[in-house]
Amino acid sequence: MRNLKSLFVLMAGLVVTHVNAEIQWQPKEIQQGQLVRGSGAKGCQLRMDSEELQVDEAGRFVFGFGRDYQPKALLTAHCPGQAMQAWELDIAQREYRIQRIDGLPPSKVTPNQDQLKRIRKEVAAAKTARARRDEREDIFEGFVWPATGPISGVYGSQRILNGNPRRPHFGIDIARPTGTPTVAPAAGVITLVHEDMYFSGGTVIIDHGHGVTSSFLHLSKIHVKEGQRVEQGELVADIGATGRVTGPHLDWRMNWRGERVDPELLVPPMPAQ
Ligand SMILES: [Zn+2]
Repeated sequence: MRNLKSLFVLMAGLVVTHVNAEIQWQPKEIQQGQLVRGSGAKGCQLRMDSEELQVDEAGRFVFGFGRDYQPKALLTAHCPGQAMQAWELDIAQREYRIQRIDGLPPSKVTPNQDQLKRIRKEVAAAKTARARRDEREDIFEGFVWPATGPISGVYGSQRILNGNPRRPHFGIDIARPTGTPTVAPAAGVITLVHEDMYFSGGTVIIDHGHGVTSSFLHLSKIHVKEGQRVEQGELVADIGATGRVTGPHLDWRMNWRGERVDPELLVPPMPAQ
Protein backbone atom coordinates (compact mmCIF):
# COMPACT_ATOMS: atom_id res chain seq x y z
CA MET A 1 0.00 0.00 0.00
CA ARG A 2 2.74 2.40 1.01
CA ASN A 3 4.71 1.56 -2.16
CA LEU A 4 1.66 2.01 -4.33
CA LYS A 5 1.05 5.44 -2.81
CA SER A 6 4.66 6.46 -3.35
CA LEU A 7 4.45 5.32 -6.94
CA PHE A 8 1.31 7.37 -7.46
CA VAL A 9 2.91 10.46 -5.93
CA LEU A 10 5.95 9.95 -8.14
CA MET A 11 3.83 9.56 -11.29
CA ALA A 12 1.66 12.55 -10.40
CA GLY A 13 4.84 14.53 -9.94
CA LEU A 14 5.84 13.74 -13.51
CA VAL A 15 2.58 15.04 -14.93
CA VAL A 16 2.15 18.33 -13.09
CA THR A 17 4.85 20.26 -11.31
CA HIS A 18 2.74 21.21 -8.28
CA VAL A 19 0.06 19.02 -6.78
CA ASN A 20 -2.27 21.12 -4.69
CA ALA A 21 -5.04 19.92 -2.46
CA GLU A 22 -8.42 21.17 -3.62
CA ILE A 23 -9.26 24.71 -2.53
CA GLN A 24 -12.20 24.55 -0.17
CA TRP A 25 -13.84 26.59 2.59
CA GLN A 26 -16.38 26.44 5.39
CA PRO A 27 -19.22 27.15 5.65
CA LYS A 28 -20.54 26.62 2.13
CA GLU A 29 -23.75 28.52 2.86
CA ILE A 30 -22.58 32.09 3.32
CA GLN A 31 -24.56 35.03 4.68
CA GLN A 32 -23.81 38.64 5.52
CA GLY A 33 -21.66 38.80 8.67
CA GLN A 34 -20.02 35.46 7.90
CA LEU A 35 -16.39 34.66 8.64
CA VAL A 36 -15.14 31.94 6.29
CA ARG A 37 -12.10 29.70 6.76
CA GLY A 38 -10.48 27.78 3.93
CA SER A 39 -7.63 25.43 3.03
CA GLY A 40 -5.87 23.78 0.11
CA ALA A 41 -4.40 26.97 -1.39
CA LYS A 42 -0.71 26.38 -0.76
CA GLY A 43 1.35 28.69 -2.95
CA CYS A 44 -1.74 30.23 -4.55
CA GLN A 45 -2.66 33.89 -4.85
CA LEU A 46 -6.24 34.39 -3.72
CA ARG A 47 -8.46 37.38 -4.16
CA MET A 48 -11.96 38.03 -2.82
CA ASP A 49 -13.46 40.84 -4.87
CA SER A 50 -10.94 43.67 -4.39
CA GLU A 51 -9.17 42.11 -1.37
CA GLU A 52 -5.97 40.14 -1.75
CA LEU A 53 -6.18 37.27 0.75
CA GLN A 54 -3.42 36.00 2.96
CA VAL A 55 -2.52 32.34 2.38
CA ASP A 56 -0.37 30.74 5.08
CA GLU A 57 2.36 28.11 4.71
CA ALA A 58 -0.20 25.33 5.16
CA GLY A 59 -2.40 26.78 2.40
CA ARG A 60 -5.09 28.09 4.76
CA PHE A 61 -6.90 31.40 4.37
CA VAL A 62 -9.69 33.51 5.86
CA PHE A 63 -12.19 35.99 4.50
CA GLY A 64 -15.32 37.66 5.81
CA PHE A 65 -18.37 39.63 4.78
CA GLY A 66 -19.77 42.67 6.56
CA ARG A 67 -23.34 43.51 7.55
CA ASP A 68 -24.35 45.02 4.22
CA TYR A 69 -22.19 43.04 1.80
CA GLN A 70 -23.56 42.76 -1.75
CA PRO A 71 -25.35 39.51 -2.83
CA LYS A 72 -22.44 38.21 -4.93
CA ALA A 73 -18.71 37.90 -4.35
CA LEU A 74 -15.98 36.58 -6.60
CA LEU A 75 -13.17 34.39 -5.29
CA THR A 76 -10.27 33.85 -7.67
CA ALA A 77 -7.16 31.69 -7.32
CA HIS A 78 -3.91 31.75 -9.25
CA CYS A 79 -2.05 28.59 -8.30
CA PRO A 80 1.38 27.64 -9.60
CA GLY A 81 1.17 25.60 -12.79
CA GLN A 82 -2.63 25.82 -12.99
CA ALA A 83 -5.17 27.81 -14.94
CA MET A 84 -6.92 30.55 -13.00
CA GLN A 85 -9.86 29.30 -10.95
CA ALA A 86 -12.88 31.41 -10.05
CA TRP A 87 -15.94 30.88 -7.88
CA GLU A 88 -18.97 33.11 -7.67
CA LEU A 89 -20.26 33.09 -4.08
CA ASP A 90 -23.84 33.87 -3.08
CA ILE A 91 -23.99 36.03 0.03
CA ALA A 92 -27.44 35.54 1.60
CA GLN A 93 -28.89 38.96 2.43
CA ARG A 94 -30.13 39.18 6.03
CA GLU A 95 -32.99 41.10 7.53
CA TYR A 96 -31.87 43.02 10.59
CA ARG A 97 -33.98 44.15 13.48
CA ILE A 98 -34.77 47.81 12.85
CA GLN A 99 -36.41 49.81 15.62
CA ARG A 100 -37.98 53.17 14.81
CA ILE A 101 -38.51 55.58 17.67
CA ASP A 102 -40.07 58.94 16.86
CA GLY A 103 -41.02 61.99 18.92
CA LEU A 104 -37.90 61.92 21.07
CA PRO A 105 -36.58 65.19 22.49
CA PRO A 106 -33.35 66.25 20.68
CA SER A 107 -30.30 64.48 22.08
CA LYS A 108 -28.55 66.27 24.93
CA VAL A 109 -25.50 64.02 24.82
CA THR A 110 -23.48 65.44 21.94
CA PRO A 111 -19.74 65.02 22.62
CA ASN A 112 -17.88 68.31 23.06
CA GLN A 113 -14.55 69.20 21.34
CA ASP A 114 -12.38 67.55 24.01
CA GLN A 115 -14.47 64.40 23.92
CA LEU A 116 -14.31 64.29 20.12
CA LYS A 117 -10.52 64.53 20.30
CA ARG A 118 -10.49 61.67 22.78
CA ILE A 119 -12.84 59.57 20.62
CA ARG A 120 -10.65 60.02 17.53
CA LYS A 121 -7.57 58.94 19.50
CA GLU A 122 -9.38 55.84 20.76
CA VAL A 123 -10.65 54.89 17.30
CA ALA A 124 -7.07 55.13 15.99
CA ALA A 125 -5.77 52.92 18.84
CA ALA A 126 -8.41 50.27 18.07
CA LYS A 127 -7.50 50.37 14.39
CA THR A 128 -3.83 49.81 15.22
CA ALA A 129 -4.80 46.91 17.50
CA ARG A 130 -6.57 45.25 14.55
CA ALA A 131 -3.75 45.74 12.04
CA ARG A 132 -1.82 42.50 12.68
CA ARG A 133 -1.83 39.76 10.07
CA ASP A 134 -0.14 36.90 11.96
CA GLU A 135 -0.29 33.51 10.31
CA ARG A 136 -1.19 31.70 13.50
CA GLU A 137 -3.40 28.62 13.77
CA ASP A 138 -5.66 30.07 16.45
CA ILE A 139 -8.42 31.08 14.07
CA PHE A 140 -8.78 27.54 12.69
CA GLU A 141 -9.42 25.90 16.05
CA GLY A 142 -13.00 26.93 16.63
CA PHE A 143 -14.75 29.34 18.97
CA VAL A 144 -16.51 29.11 22.31
CA TRP A 145 -18.82 31.64 23.99
CA PRO A 146 -16.76 34.10 26.08
CA ALA A 147 -19.64 34.16 28.58
CA THR A 148 -23.09 32.62 28.65
CA GLY A 149 -26.31 34.38 29.53
CA PRO A 150 -29.36 36.06 28.05
CA ILE A 151 -28.69 37.65 24.66
CA SER A 152 -29.83 41.27 24.92
CA GLY A 153 -28.51 42.62 21.62
CA VAL A 154 -27.69 41.08 18.26
CA TYR A 155 -25.44 41.80 15.28
CA GLY A 156 -26.78 44.19 12.70
CA SER A 157 -29.70 45.64 14.64
CA GLN A 158 -30.28 49.35 14.23
CA ARG A 159 -32.34 52.12 15.80
CA ILE A 160 -33.80 55.00 13.85
CA LEU A 161 -34.33 57.90 16.25
CA ASN A 162 -36.54 60.76 15.03
CA GLY A 163 -35.90 59.53 11.49
CA ASN A 164 -32.10 59.51 11.89
CA PRO A 165 -30.53 56.05 11.44
CA ARG A 166 -28.00 55.38 14.19
CA ARG A 167 -24.88 53.32 13.74
CA PRO A 168 -25.88 49.63 13.56
CA HIS A 169 -24.99 47.39 16.49
CA PHE A 170 -22.15 45.10 15.46
CA GLY A 171 -21.69 42.95 18.53
CA ILE A 172 -23.62 40.38 20.42
CA ASP A 173 -24.66 41.51 23.91
CA ILE A 174 -24.71 39.02 26.75
CA ALA A 175 -26.49 40.41 29.80
CA ARG A 176 -24.79 39.29 33.01
CA PRO A 177 -24.00 41.14 36.25
CA THR A 178 -20.85 43.19 36.76
CA GLY A 179 -17.99 40.93 37.80
CA THR A 180 -19.02 37.92 35.68
CA PRO A 181 -15.86 36.42 34.15
CA THR A 182 -15.35 36.43 30.36
CA VAL A 183 -12.90 34.12 28.64
CA ALA A 184 -11.06 34.08 25.30
CA PRO A 185 -13.39 32.63 22.62
CA ALA A 186 -10.29 31.38 20.76
CA ALA A 187 -6.58 31.62 21.48
CA GLY A 188 -4.78 34.80 20.51
CA VAL A 189 -2.61 37.73 21.46
CA ILE A 190 -3.93 40.73 23.43
CA THR A 191 -3.40 43.79 21.24
CA LEU A 192 -5.34 46.40 23.21
CA VAL A 193 -6.12 46.98 26.86
CA HIS A 194 -7.91 50.23 27.67
CA GLU A 195 -9.45 50.92 31.04
CA ASP A 196 -11.93 53.56 29.92
CA MET A 197 -12.82 54.38 26.34
CA TYR A 198 -15.47 57.03 25.72
CA PHE A 199 -18.07 54.73 24.16
CA SER A 200 -16.90 51.25 25.12
CA GLY A 201 -15.44 51.82 28.62
CA GLY A 202 -13.08 49.01 29.66
CA THR A 203 -12.03 47.44 26.36
CA VAL A 204 -9.88 44.48 25.27
CA ILE A 205 -8.95 43.40 21.73
CA ILE A 206 -7.68 39.85 21.07
CA ASP A 207 -5.94 39.10 17.78
CA HIS A 208 -6.68 35.53 16.60
CA GLY A 209 -4.39 35.67 13.56
CA HIS A 210 -5.07 36.16 9.84
CA GLY A 211 -6.52 39.60 10.54
CA VAL A 212 -9.34 38.29 12.76
CA THR A 213 -9.96 39.99 16.12
CA SER A 214 -12.42 39.83 18.99
CA SER A 215 -13.28 42.95 20.96
CA PHE A 216 -14.82 42.93 24.45
CA LEU A 217 -16.56 46.14 25.52
CA HIS A 218 -17.89 47.71 28.76
CA LEU A 219 -15.60 45.64 31.03
CA SER A 220 -15.35 46.36 34.76
CA LYS A 221 -12.00 44.67 35.31
CA ILE A 222 -9.27 43.52 32.90
CA HIS A 223 -7.01 40.59 33.82
CA VAL A 224 -4.63 40.61 30.83
CA LYS A 225 -1.84 42.81 29.47
CA GLU A 226 -1.05 43.94 25.93
CA GLY A 227 1.25 41.49 24.16
CA GLN A 228 0.14 38.58 26.35
CA ARG A 229 -0.90 35.31 24.70
CA VAL A 230 -4.16 33.75 25.89
CA GLU A 231 -5.46 30.27 25.23
CA GLN A 232 -9.08 29.47 24.42
CA GLY A 233 -11.14 29.54 27.62
CA GLU A 234 -8.59 31.58 29.56
CA LEU A 235 -9.90 34.39 31.80
CA VAL A 236 -9.62 37.79 30.10
CA ALA A 237 -11.84 40.24 31.99
CA ASP A 238 -14.99 40.80 34.03
CA ILE A 239 -18.28 42.03 32.61
CA GLY A 240 -19.22 45.59 33.52
CA ALA A 241 -21.27 48.64 32.64
CA THR A 242 -18.49 51.05 31.70
CA GLY A 243 -18.71 53.49 28.77
CA ARG A 244 -22.02 54.52 27.25
CA VAL A 245 -24.36 51.77 28.42
CA THR A 246 -27.60 51.40 30.31
CA GLY A 247 -26.70 48.25 32.21
CA PRO A 248 -24.01 45.58 32.67
CA HIS A 249 -23.36 43.30 29.69
CA LEU A 250 -20.58 41.92 27.54
CA ASP A 251 -20.56 43.30 24.01
CA TRP A 252 -18.50 40.87 21.90
CA ARG A 253 -17.53 42.05 18.43
CA MET A 254 -15.44 40.49 15.72
CA ASN A 255 -13.56 41.89 12.75
CA TRP A 256 -11.85 40.45 9.73
CA ARG A 257 -9.70 43.36 8.57
CA GLY A 258 -12.19 46.22 8.08
CA GLU A 259 -15.25 43.96 7.83
CA ARG A 260 -17.32 43.55 10.96
CA VAL A 261 -18.48 39.94 11.17
CA ASP A 262 -21.08 38.27 13.36
CA PRO A 263 -19.58 36.33 16.31
CA GLU A 264 -22.82 34.39 16.76
CA LEU A 265 -22.25 32.57 13.45
CA LEU A 266 -19.03 31.04 14.85
CA VAL A 267 -20.28 29.50 18.07
CA PRO A 268 -22.88 26.83 18.89
CA PRO A 269 -26.32 28.05 19.98
CA MET A 270 -26.28 29.81 23.37
CA PRO A 271 -26.87 27.15 26.06
CA ALA A 272 -30.28 27.38 27.76
CA GLN A 273 -30.11 29.51 30.90
ZN1 LIG B 1 -23.77 46.13 22.61
